[in-house]
Amino acid sequence: MTSLLDPVVIPGEPEFQLPGDGILAPASGDVPQSFDAACTVCGASRVEGQDWCLECGTAFAAPRAIPGVQTVALAGAFTLLMAGGAVAARGIIELARIRLGISDQFTHIPERQ
Ligand SMILES: [Zn+2]
Repeated sequence: MTSLLDPVVIPGEPEFQLPGDGILAPASGDVPQSFDAACTVCGASRVEGQDWCLECGTAFAAPRAIPGVQTVALAGAFTLLMAGGAVAARGIIELARIRLGISDQFTHIPERQ
C-alpha cells in the first residue's frame, strides 16, 4: 500500500520524498517579504503593494475622488455611438417605409371630420 510519505519517482527527475512529518519547510520564495507598515485598524502585517488588509478589509490605497479623464471620454464616446446608432436606425426604418409605401400608422394621427 502506498502512502503520501512514500518517495515520488518521476522519470528524469531526482527522487522526491516528503519529510517524516509530511510538512515541507518554507522556501524563502514562498513567503512574501513583509515591510514596516501594518494595518492601522487591526495591526495585521501586510506586504508592499497590498491594497487591502486581508484580516479586516481596510483599504490601504487612497481612493480616487473623481474618475479619470479616460473614463469620462470613454463613457461620452460610447453614449455618442449609441445615440448615433439609434438615429441611423430610425433613418433607415423611415427610408424603408417611404420606399415601400408603408403608411406610418403608428405615428400618424388621423384628422377629425
Ligand atoms: Zn486590518
